[in-house]
Amino acid sequence: MRREPRNSPAIVLRQIDYGESDLIVSLLTAEQGMLRGYARSARKSIKRFGPALEPFSQIEIRWQPGRGELLTLLDADLISPRQGLRLSLTSLAMAGYAVEVYEMLLQEGEEQSEMFSLLQGYLDYLATQGDPALARLLFELRLVQHLGYIPHLLHCSECFVQFSEGAIAFDPARGGSLCDACAGDSSPLHVGLGTLGSLSRSLQTPIGLFDGFRLGSRTLQEGAVMLSLILGSVLPRSPKSLRFLQQTTVLDEP
Ligand SMILES: [Zn+2]
Repeated sequence: MRREPRNSPAIVLRQIDYGESDLIVSLLTAEQGMLRGYARSARKSIKRFGPALEPFSQIEIRWQPGRGELLTLLDADLISPRQGLRLSLTSLAMAGYAVEVYEMLLQEGEEQSEMFSLLQGYLDYLATQGDPALARLLFELRLVQHLGYIPHLLHCSECFVQFSEGAIAFDPARGGSLCDACAGDSSPLHVGLGTLGSLSRSLQTPIGLFDGFRLGSRTLQEGAVMLSLILGSVLPRSPKSLRFLQQTTVLDEP
């Protein structure tokens, strides 16, 4: 790796206090993917970092390879603090959820331009008071597609017959949607054909686009159950942030 300083657009994922005044910061960049860096005196030096290293901020970071695994972070410009995320506990919990899932699934040092666009669009949308249920569904759907786990939706995953009506059996362990003949009576879930169509259409759009979507309440509800089944088989464990998210959703109810 070159040793001279480099600039990268980045999203701050997490910061951990280290020693008296230093920080260890996890970042997502498009070109270098997940990075971890060491910011010397970051809690004292307003000039070099200011508030730029707060979680979920969009920044321009200047860094260089360090001696060990950690990069040396030199300074940062704050592009957007996404202050709007802090207006509701749900938005904040949703942001924390995405970060936790990324930390579980993405390897350090791999190029991640698509995952960068996805997280950027998701956080921007939540920070401008976008619908959390819609944000979560689109985020999870695109994430599993990017990772190669997207199930068959509009045809049977075993005999490939196209669906034309009715409630469709769905079992991620068997590849996704199933016709009645293939499903037998063991399917964990039935979803409407309209839901499958809406999810399928959502996947035809740019990965970072969240504004302007409208999904019906049935699609949101059924989609959430489908995605939690799929993620249950993809994630190594249940995210801790989900428990917090469930509590905040109750607290934020008007
Ligand atoms: Zn079938």
